[in-house]
Amino acid sequence: MTTAFIVGSGPNGLAAAVTLASAGVDVTVLESADTPGGGTRSVEATIPGLLHDECSGFHPLALENAFSQHFDLAAHGLTWGWAPAEYAHPLDAGRGAVAYRSVADTAAQFGDAGKRYSTVFAPLTARFDRISSEFLQPMAHFPSHPIALAHFGARAALPATWLGAALGSPEAAALWAGVAAHAFHPLSTPLSSSIGVALGTAAHRYGWPVAVGGSASITGAMISLLTSLAGRVETGRTVTSLAELPDADLVLLDTSPQSAARILDGRQPPRIARAYNRFRHGPAAYQVAFAVEGGIPWRYRPARESGTVHVGGGLGQVVESERAVWRGQMPSRPFILVGQQYLADPARSAGDVHPIDAYAHVPAGYTGDARDLIINRIEHYAPGFRDRIRAVTVRDTAAIASHNANYVGGDITTGANTARQLLLRPRAAVDPYATGVPGVYLCSAATPPGAGAHGLCGWHAARSALRSANIPFPDSETRHDTRLFRR
Ligand SMILES: Cc1cc2nc3c(=O)[nH]c(=O)nc-3n(C[C@H](O)[C@H](O)[C@H](O)COP(=O)(O)OP(=O)(O)OC[C@H]3O[C@@H](n4cnc5c(N)ncnc54)[C@H](O)[C@@H]3O)c2cc1C
Repeated sequence: MTTAFIVGSGPNGLAAAVTLASAGVDVTVLESADTPGGGTRSVEATIPGLLHDECSGFHPLALENAFSQHFDLAAHGLTWGWAPAEYAHPLDAGRGAVAYRSVADTAAQFGDAGKRYSTVFAPLTARFDRISSEFLQPMAHFPSHPIALAHFGARAALPATWLGAALGSPEAAALWAGVAAHAFHPLSTPLSSSIGVALGTAAHRYGWPVAVGGSASITGAMISLLTSLAGRVETGRTVTSLAELPDADLVLLDTSPQSAARILDGRQPPRIARAYNRFRHGPAAYQVAFAVEGGIPWRYRPARESGTVHVGGGLGQVVESERAVWRGQMPSRPFILVGQQYLADPARSAGDVHPIDAYAHVPAGYTGDARDLIINRIEHYAPGFRDRIRAVTVRDTAAIASHNANYVGGDITTGANTARQLLLRPRAAVDPYATGVPGVYLCSAATPPGAGAHGLCGWHAARSALRSANIPFPDSETRHDTRLFRR
């Protein structure tokens, strides 16, 4: 029987594990932490009874992708939930903008400029399934839907600042800036629209769902599936060298490229080891979990109904703060993401006290204290917020990196979204998952299609490993409908 070890139990490690196990491989996952799941763990971070997501909260790209269509995670307990609105962007004086599932409802708030919003997002939304099947895989492939891909590419290639200006309304531009800033990259560079276009369109196609019971439910479902396929997960097992692993036919590393190079310790061709060590990490996150009585009293009322709230001011201010963190400077008004998952999954709250998961974009390795800055920025758009806080837990960049070795310097995207790394990550190669060591593959978010708890890096890496080992994959299995709408 073919045997495999997976190093790391993040969503990509587990997706790789179930993909291999479903092809009949005997799989063992080794995880350094005491709790499996990497970026998909949940915990009572503030007060007992309040469930917080430690990392990923919203999963627009996890629905109807190649991995989730193939494996029935719903049968293993995964259910999605949606807030009434997907994401909001408060501005001064109680103004703001909000993204609804419907493009038309979203465009309607922008008056005459709404036509421009629809012109960008309606055609992309209509073609999203074809488009996402193209960009959620390595770039080096023959497209099955070249016209849809070209349509996406024409927008994705633009600097986000251009697209923002083209929307013709300050509110629409701010809404766009918030979603584009998920790239953790300056918004004035070519391709800086790509992540925003993908996430913004996904909001209209599938929404930004949360996993009911916390993101740990994604981990739980994948481990349940893996166990049903006779695989196993061992926690408290940090792997520092390939030599520590018993003989195995396949090894998949759910690690940063630098960790992979260390684990492979000179076994890689030097040019590949050099590429791994040169892999660029991006700016960092500074996390604050809040317990808030009565929720956040946003002046812009639609924000009270939105799963995610982007706090960052108008387009110009977001552009400025993202540029500063990229240059290593801490902005006075950083871009902040506020997760209100409880709106989609009320059981995460304790009575009228609600869990809020916020993080600010800060420079890589930032050592300062951003807690009060984050509280003050939220208070600016939600007067009275501070008085409602019942507990706070902070995780700075060092804590993020020590909690999960993949988040180097606090980089929660496991690699900067530079144009080069958007197209070719972790290096230029026909098979981006191959490490140059026979039988060993990289499967983390440092590989295509990049960050997010969608499992696709693991899925593609495992498929590549199976192909090289001449192990057939049961491609013809039933495809599952993952859209378990639960509003
Ligand atoms: C604050 C925050 C918010 C986020 N928000 C979202 C969101 O809303 N939506 C979304 O889709 N994504 C989000 N993400 C990103 C998402 O969580 C990651 O992109 C995703 O988890 C990456 O999956 P992965 O399997 O590649 O790696 P990870 O999830 O990082 O897991 C890697 C695992 O490998 C283990 N490991 C590493 N090295 C070793 C070793 N040498 N030996 C043994 N084990 C090892 C680590 O302990 C870890 O458990 C967020 C991340 C953070 C931190």
